[in-house]
Amino acid sequence: MFKIAVLPGDGIGVEIVPEAIKALEAIAQKYGHEFQFTEALVGGAAYDTTGTPLPVETLDLCKASDAVLLGAIGAPKYDTLPVHLRPEVGALLPLRKELQLFANLRPCILFPGLLAASTLKEEVISGVDILVVRELTGGLYFGDRFREATPDGGQKATDILSYSTYEIERIARFAFEAAGARRGKLCSVDKANVIETSRLWRETVTELAKEYPQVELTHMYVDNCSMQLIRNPRQFDVIVTENMFGDILTDEASMLTGSIGMLPSASIGGQVSLYEPSHGSAPDIAGQKKANPLATILSVAMMLRYTCKLENEAQAIENAVRTVLAAGYRTPDLMEQGGTPVSTVEMGDKVVEAILK
Ligand code: NAD
Repeated sequence: MFKIAVLPGDGIGVEIVPEAIKALEAIAQKYGHEFQFTEALVGGAAYDTTGTPLPVETLDLCKASDAVLLGAIGAPKYDTLPVHLRPEVGALLPLRKELQLFANLRPCILFPGLLAASTLKEEVISGVDILVVRELTGGLYFGDRFREATPDGGQKATDILSYSTYEIERIARFAFEAAGARRGKLCSVDKANVIETSRLWRETVTELAKEYPQVELTHMYVDNCSMQLIRNPRQFDVIVTENMFGDILTDEASMLTGSIGMLPSASIGGQVSLYEPSHGSAPDIAGQKKANPLATILSVAMMLRYTCKLENEAQAIENAVRTVLAAGYRTPDLMEQGGTPVSTVEMGDKVVEAILK
């Protein structure tokens, strides 16, 4: 039996997570597994009920589970709270830190059925299969931040960006191994022409490369990478980068897959891994049955692969998604070139049908 902590969170989180659970239940039914789901509050939903975005009970549940399934957190109404109470800073970042989730894997795979759904040209994105490995517990998002008054009556804001050799080495090692198990190409992305942390990043990754002679290592500046991703995305196999660069580049890369609603993620490194879609809580479409649940459904496929070590079952979910997309079913974010419109729940139902077929 696998114990799954379920944290739907805010906005569309509460709509997409049940669809992923449905997919896991279909897998349980078809392959004879047992999943035990225990739900807990996180983010704005937790703040509203308990006064804190990451209650101790939620953290304890996560630590006592085999895996965590997270929807998304955040909403405009929390943006004026003191920083430590805001969903992202008060829940998401400490959750990652507490669970020691230093590696965030974001596979950007274009399902053939979605070739026309992207805003990019088919000949550019056809066959895209990139794994972005993002460092998740260091860098700018975890550095000290403060404000001070300036003599002219204004303010000065400071965010500290730091990385240690140890932090860079462990994420780079992970990426080298992932590249070794794929097409053998690793692109390390930094801003070493300007930033000191990036210079340490590049030196450390270059040194580590000696241990992985079978992997072809290249380096790229982040500004160039953001351009290359849409100019010629097929040049990439595995990309490894620091926290903020990875955050930004993966949103961009999501458009290679047709929609940000298609991009799953796995955060690993500690005892318990966390699975969540790469997107946020999408307050603009929350409650309208428009959210695409496929990123979350594909995230539980990653859970089956990495936590449960059930590769066939992981592929069963991915194949079901492929089948449903090939049959033309589309949530509104995928409707660029038409198709059969479906709601969040209907999309989840179609995936379940395809799994059970
Ligand atoms: P977002 O990812 O929530 O939304 C960006 C755009 O993509 C919106 O137009 C939205 O409608 C669309 N979108 C996102 N997911 C979709 C889906 N599954 N189906 C269809 N369309 C989808 O990013 P944002 O608007 O910058 O942020 C909204 C809130 O989410 C903020 O409070 C932000 O801090 C938070 N956020 C949370 C996480 C997380 O929980 N991991 C990540 C990013 C942002």
